[in-house]
Amino acid sequence: MKEKIYLSSPHMGGTEEKYVGEAFKTNWIAPLGPNVSSFEESLENYLSSGSYVAALSSGTAAIHLALILLNVERGDEVLCQSLTFSASANPILYMGATPIFVDSEPETWNLCPNHLEAAIKDRLAKGKKPKAIVAVHLYGMPYQVEAIEAISKKYDIPVIEDSAEALGSSYKNQKCGTFGAISILSFNGNKIITTSGGGALVSRKQEHKTKAIFLATQARDEAPHYQHSQIGYNYRLSNVCAGIGRGQMEVLDTHVNLRRNMNQFYQKLFASESLIQVFDEPSTDFYSNHWLSCIKFTENNTTKNSDGLREAFLADNIESRPLWKPMHLQPIFKDALFYGDGTSESLFKNGLCLPSGSNLTDSDRTRIQTIVVNYLNA
Ligand SMILES: *Cc1c(COP(=O)(O)O)cnc(C)c1O
Repeated sequence: MKEKIYLSSPHMGGTEEKYVGEAFKTNWIAPLGPNVSSFEESLENYLSSGSYVAALSSGTAAIHLALILLNVERGDEVLCQSLTFSASANPILYMGATPIFVDSEPETWNLCPNHLEAAIKDRLAKGKKPKAIVAVHLYGMPYQVEAIEAISKKYDIPVIEDSAEALGSSYKNQKCGTFGAISILSFNGNKIITTSGGGALVSRKQEHKTKAIFLATQARDEAPHYQHSQIGYNYRLSNVCAGIGRGQMEVLDTHVNLRRNMNQFYQKLFASESLIQVFDEPSTDFYSNHWLSCIKFTENNTTKNSDGLREAFLADNIESRPLWKPMHLQPIFKDALFYGDGTSESLFKNGLCLPSGSNLTDSDRTRIQTIVVNYLNA
């Protein structure tokens, strides 16, 4: 069997072990410590001055805390992009709130401003104002930031910016992770940088950071004994994992460039294929980290399609994956409301995520190219 080519695998820069070693040498093997503070500081500097970062155990935990900080309560409705990973939506259920799913638009594959506004108007007409909007920069592609923010402002509904896949992306030269009322990041093993597992809540308000850290460390009141007047969580990032994050921050921009080069590779590979479109920025306002490079087959292709190509890759031990299956089609959310026109369903049916790691080699690219050429010309 040939060596496996992964969709997106961890890529160490070299200094991660040094910082992890420091945690051991100084015995900071705890969910706090110097690596946690340094990692937060380095993210704050990277994103923009005025960003406040709380390092957490996962991106999912960050979304959960964001909903709490925005006062979402049992029975509230929360609007959420349907085409996304389930972690964008599950925390809505943790809160006992109700997710309402909204379709994508074809340019960024993200939250469609028209369907979002239609959904809000309809909920208002039914006497229920949604409490928050979860918007996602899918595969690193920024959503229509200005259009979404205009709607958020018009109806006074805060946006949770799910930037789990978009560290290093930007919209009109402003970094993803700095939009919305609260933003979240993920450092899971397959993301643009990793801490093996981890995430962060990002806000423009110091008080959000303070409150997030308070809730993430069991909501201990100030007292010599253990006293609690609120529900707490165990969501803080460990100082060992934060050491990996510190090292990863040193190579973040390099790795973004390598992922963007992978995207260029696919643009060239599929340039003359009328059947296939490589997912790309709709204009220079958008700058994607191209966390994953994706393609879309034209609708109603009978002979060549995303499943066929995926199986051809699999036979050569190359991993590729369908796009995220929209949440409104998931068994867990089968009773949820959905506002849309079928765009995300069509993307799911015809799309495919391709190997995109920053650590892919020339020989990996040759193998990928061979499979593509053979499949399309067979
Ligand atoms: C990975 C991911 C998350 C969750 O992050 P974890 O750190 O894995 O909990 C949330 N939203 C999106 C869009 C993601 O891709």
